[in-house]
Amino acid sequence: MAATLAGVALRAGCVNFATTTRIKQRVYYPCASPALGPSVVVGLKNLKTGPLMKDCLFCRVVSGEIPAKKVYEDEHTFAFEDINPQAPTHVLIVPKKHIRGLKEASQEDADAIGRCHLTAAHIARQRSIEDGYRTVLNVGAKAGQSVFHLHVHLIGGRNLQWPPG
Ligand code: 5GP
Ligand code: ZN
Repeated sequence: MAATLAGVALRAGCVNFATTTRIKQRVYYPCASPALGPSVVVGLKNLKTGPLMKDCLFCRVVSGEIPAKKVYEDEHTFAFEDINPQAPTHVLIVPKKHIRGLKEASQEDADAIGRCHLTAAHIARQRSIEDGYRTVLNVGAKAGQSVFHLHVHLIGGRNLQWPPG
């Protein structure tokens, strides 16, 4: 897979160079899907989880380029404190793979999205907020989605109103 991507990048006249970690390479590669954005993307590729997008805020959080208060990390999932918390617990859980949002997700993303929710439940258990918390996916700008890398909000630690605004 890595060799294939490197080959594509080289054929496209781009540069490919390894960084210090074993699983990450900086790659220049043509974008295969319109859903992924511009025709040529430069980014970090985690060899286990797929491309990270240079212009995506949460890909840059996942890669460590933008600092965040990490709450949890595994091979597929990354969780961190929201910078503007709306409740005593407000954690964002993201798949390491760049998925633009729920409406752009495909069948092959089911596992990654499910893992985000299970990670939310795990964090809620750890924080003893299981008497009431909410997991939220804002889908599209009209629903308040402002960062276009799929993320689950875990909100809890206070009484929550229904319906949400
Ligand atoms: P959305 O509005 O897309 O559903 O949620 C995006 C969330 O990301 C917001 O709750 C916002 O406060 C949070 N956020 C935006 N920029 C940053 C950042 O740079 N770091 C962190 N930790 N959270 C961010
Ligand atoms: Zn991303």
